[in-house]
Amino acid sequence: MKQRALFLDRDGVINIDHGYVHKPEDFDFVNGIFELIAAAKKNGYLIVIVTNQAGIGRGYYTEADFHKLMNWVRQQIVQQGGEIDAIYYCPDHPEHGIGHYRRDSEFRKPGPGMLFQAQRELDLDLAASIFVGDNTSDMLAGQAAGVGTLLHIGRESSEGPGTAIRKLDDALAYLIAKSQ
Ligand SMILES: [Mg+2]
Repeated sequence: MKQRALFLDRDGVINIDHGYVHKPEDFDFVNGIFELIAAAKKNGYLIVIVTNQAGIGRGYYTEADFHKLMNWVRQQIVQQGGEIDAIYYCPDHPEHGIGHYRRDSEFRKPGPGMLFQAQRELDLDLAASIFVGDNTSDMLAGQAAGVGTLLHIGRESSEGPGTAIRKLDDALAYLIAKSQ
């Protein structure tokens, strides 16, 4: 049976987006993220992070730095009763990437590449899945992939795909309602 996922953008959803975060000391968890992940796991969702990491392509930090930080993030989440099932990231940037990182990529949101890769590798039901993001590019990627519930946290205007929410507690409410 196909599984459903809670897709999470990273910067601005899991951690406060200070810009190109790549160290634990700069990684401030957003209020409510541990509760959201724990509740999603309890309700049978796989937790999948999908994150653009052009800071790698720009040369601000390396893929090794990224993996080291994410191992630390995984540990923090486990300590809070949750678990991350998979992490997908795109290091490329079409203009500012250095060397082979300079390219157009379907994997870079708003492209749906990371979501489709997750669907294949984890056998996901995208229509039954939820995506929480803080950028229009997240919503466009989710829309292009056919993710059933798109939640846009902190959106200023009423424009664009997805449902605007103010905080992660609101995402939790959607998840609980959908799971009943
Ligand atoms: Mg973001």
